[in-house]
Amino acid sequence: MHTTGGRTVDEELREKLRRIPSMDRLLEAPWIAEVEPCLGKRTVKGVFADIVGELRRDIRKGEDRTVDAGAIVEEARRRCRRRLQRSLRRVVNATGVVVHTNLGRSCLCGEAVEAVTQVASSYNTLEYNLEEGTRGQRNDHVEWLLCEVTGADAAMVVNNNAGAVLLALAALAAEREVVVSRGELVEIGGSFRIPDIMTFSGAVMREVGTTNRTHPADYLGAIGDQTAMLLKVHPSNFRVQGFTREVTREELAAMARERELICMEDLGSGMLLDFSPYGLSREPSVRDCLQAGVDLVTFSGDKLLGGPQIGGIVGRRQLIDRLRSYPLARALRVDKMTLAAMESTLRCYLAGREGEIPTVGMLALGRETLHARAEALSESLEKALPDAGTEVVEVDDAVGGGAFPQEALPGVAVALKPERMPTGRLQEALRGNDPPIVCGAREDTLLIHVRTLLEGDEGAVVDALAALLGEVSP
Ligand SMILES: *Cc1c(COP(=O)(O)O)cnc(C)c1O
Repeated sequence: MHTTGGRTVDEELREKLRRIPSMDRLLEAPWIAEVEPCLGKRTVKGVFADIVGELRRDIRKGEDRTVDAGAIVEEARRRCRRRLQRSLRRVVNATGVVVHTNLGRSCLCGEAVEAVTQVASSYNTLEYNLEEGTRGQRNDHVEWLLCEVTGADAAMVVNNNAGAVLLALAALAAEREVVVSRGELVEIGGSFRIPDIMTFSGAVMREVGTTNRTHPADYLGAIGDQTAMLLKVHPSNFRVQGFTREVTREELAAMARERELICMEDLGSGMLLDFSPYGLSREPSVRDCLQAGVDLVTFSGDKLLGGPQIGGIVGRRQLIDRLRSYPLARALRVDKMTLAAMESTLRCYLAGREGEIPTVGMLALGRETLHARAEALSESLEKALPDAGTEVVEVDDAVGGGAFPQEALPGVAVALKPERMPTGRLQEALRGNDPPIVCGAREDTLLIHVRTLLEGDEGAVVDALAALLGEVSP
């Protein structure tokens, strides 16, 4: 047996374990009285129990850990503080990525926020027909609006676009075949994969063509007794370039019509507008797809549309009716706050006020406006930090949300080279700010993209940088 100073290792371990203070003693720390009203006794005790448990385990494993009551209490305090902070909270998006999936995709317009607050805090007309005093349909609040802005006969909404595709495949093509091009078997970030959705829905996927080229004859060759649907999927986050051939939606819709099949398109981003006046390439809108003869179009509410997380399905009345009465629809139904946000967002489009929708407004920002904003931010930073050496630079912003993957949106940023801190450390410190600030970087330069800053964000950026860099200034 090993010995140290005449004692066995075992004895030393036991001695260390004995020195761990009792829970009662640990819970005497004065700051506990402040956090207990928010976290509850049990949570606070659990935090201490975790720390003590980890310490015991390490000691038993023979790791070199000292037992220090002060350190245990300090660590518990740190963990409790972290739990006191709201987890889902506002951040400043200084990345220039407009539909930033990790940062919540789209921000709602003011009217939508107001509608959500009202509906969330009061009884409401969710499923109530005021004229008749009878039960109403939650879908009715947005159906007519979706029809107005897309030209559809009928429309419905579900939890998200993945849900919309799943519902449509399950209700209309279960145990039958869905023909889809190999070039469109996409995976969208966060595990939405067309082949997997197909499997879950019970539909049988019939792949045609090759990755880069699919011809009308490929679809025609695959259509048989078992075929229920021809599916087109927007490639969203990638592009096939070079020697390519894609069957257009017009061709696909015509083939489906002739053979009495359903033609469906998963449009992904769900644009209600043509964004080409803002310098982006011409992409089909939901209306364009319907006009091309597609029977059903599905799209996300929180990508380019700029609304809440929702899946829109628009198209032929008879198909929408089948989807609405399919039992899975209930499992994917949308909550009142989401409906309130969607209704208000669609009303902006109806009134031609879509510029008030943050996502649309940010995409529409011109070069001059961006430059002016960056100059103003740079000046405020120089005032707060006289030797910060900021610079206004042109950068690439991005649409995000898997849309326009290859198009850099020309953006403007304030660049800052932190002298006494590696850029990575400064980015980390900014994420630790309240509110947290997420920004870009290029080599040793911090980049604050101004396109995605919301009202009040500039002030938060200046305050945070002044606090972080001002401290270390001589
Ligand atoms: C984003 C996207 C989806 C998933 O939409 P969610 O609203 O995130 O569920 C599905 N298909 C395409 C083509 C997409 O771009």
